[in-house]
Amino acid sequence: MKVVFAASEMVPFIKIGGLGDVAGSLPKAVAALGQEVTVVIPNYSLIDQAKWGIQRAHEFAMLFAAKEETVTVSKATLPESNVAVLFLGNDQYLSGGGKDAFAGTVSEADRFAFFSKALVTLIKSGNMPELTAVDIVHLNDWHTSMVPVLWKLTNTASKPPAFLLSIHNLSYQGVTDLTILDKLGIKAGDNDELKWDAANNDIDMLLQGILHADAINTVSENYAKEILTDAFSEGLGEILRRRQDRLFGIVNGIDYRLWDPSTDTAIAKPYTIESLKTAKPVNRTALQANLGLAQDDKPIISFIGRIEPKQKGIDLIYDWLKERIRNQESGIKEKIQFVLLGTGDKEWEEKLRKLVPSNEQWLSVNLAFDEKLAHQIYAGSDYILMPSKFEPCGLPQMIALHYGTLPIVHGVGGLKDTVLDGWTGFLFQDYSVSAMEAKIAQAVEIYNTDAYWKMARQGMKQNFSWDASAKKYLNLYKKTIQFASA
Ligand code: ADP
Repeated sequence: MKVVFAASEMVPFIKIGGLGDVAGSLPKAVAALGQEVTVVIPNYSLIDQAKWGIQRAHEFAMLFAAKEETVTVSKATLPESNVAVLFLGNDQYLSGGGKDAFAGTVSEADRFAFFSKALVTLIKSGNMPELTAVDIVHLNDWHTSMVPVLWKLTNTASKPPAFLLSIHNLSYQGVTDLTILDKLGIKAGDNDELKWDAANNDIDMLLQGILHADAINTVSENYAKEILTDAFSEGLGEILRRRQDRLFGIVNGIDYRLWDPSTDTAIAKPYTIESLKTAKPVNRTALQANLGLAQDDKPIISFIGRIEPKQKGIDLIYDWLKERIRNQESGIKEKIQFVLLGTGDKEWEEKLRKLVPSNEQWLSVNLAFDEKLAHQIYAGSDYILMPSKFEPCGLPQMIALHYGTLPIVHGVGGLKDTVLDGWTGFLFQDYSVSAMEAKIAQAVEIYNTDAYWKMARQGMKQNFSWDASAKKYLNLYKKTIQFASA
């Protein structure tokens, strides 16, 4: 089977969030099952061409916003694989991206509309051998959601590939004004779905993808069910319910070559399940030293993720810490150490920065994107906290499990599918500071006891490798092809 995987980011070339991890590992796992896979991403100027051996292979002209634009096509191979990667470049629309895929600005909508049109144009041209006779185009999130509708609206004699759309996050939909249609050279009246979408004076790119793809999936089974309910549907419930027979859930995997405590060069003392108990204290001490925390044996609870109050539960963490810091009697400083690593919403970053009283040796707020520190936190912490309000899949809890670090999570989305309450971690049900705090108390209660180490080892034994999920994707590709030809 010939597969084209299109995304806005891909590890190791460029990473903004979890989608980058998926794009860097799922295609590799599908290729390992004997399929021919090509990934297409934008060529942001942040991508180091020399480091990855990215070579210019082709260029073509395309109309966008009524101007002829040049699109360059460069090529590389994903390290340690036979996956071809094509990078589409254009100075005006594509080079500036790769910093934030969620801003929801006009320039970002233009960027990905441009990218989607360029992809359709390139596949249809038949000029790249990697993109001829494609069986399936695997689209990801709103960034590439316009591809199926653009395909349908441009005349072609060739048989369309099947289109699968994976939703990694329903809350980012690429909603933009109607000028996007002019830029793409299409009209609202061109088909019923566009006309209907345009009636309220905007275009929702993700919605277009949901309506026009042959099949849709989310990145955990539980989230696929949740998004059919109003609490999680982000306003798309009616449409998703209409397409329910084409909606599936496949949990993400982890690339265990990148996340392996036994070979991790970023951490003080690599370890296996057997050496966990002796290595953990070494990694804790190194983390404390690195972050200027007191060298004591209080449990370290950490958060790694985007500073995003609507999704990641930053509001709960902030309210909890603020209340406990204000209320001296809570004795929080005497009970735990807390580490936060994240970037995102500037207002919330500022609130978090201000939270840290000077010279605190129990609280470390790191407002940066730091891959190496992330590894050290997974290895050196005792608990990883993920109080997400909603979570399509979530990777930190799976990484934490593999590092023998117990996750404390809100029981939603992929968190519910991957963390087993009382067996490999701790789940709280209500989205509230009190429910989270009660669970933290319960988790800390067993800190460094036999029960703790037993759970940590059980977590390390869980298998969230891509192998199983890649097989499920392969089945879903086959199903999608059947839907497309029905
Ligand atoms: P998202 O909703 O951002 O896609 P995921 O849970 O799917 O969240 O994936 C987050 C990934 O990004 C994990 O690999 C996590 O370790 C990493 N990550 C998030 N924030 C940071 C940061 N500030 N520094 C380093 N890594 C980070």
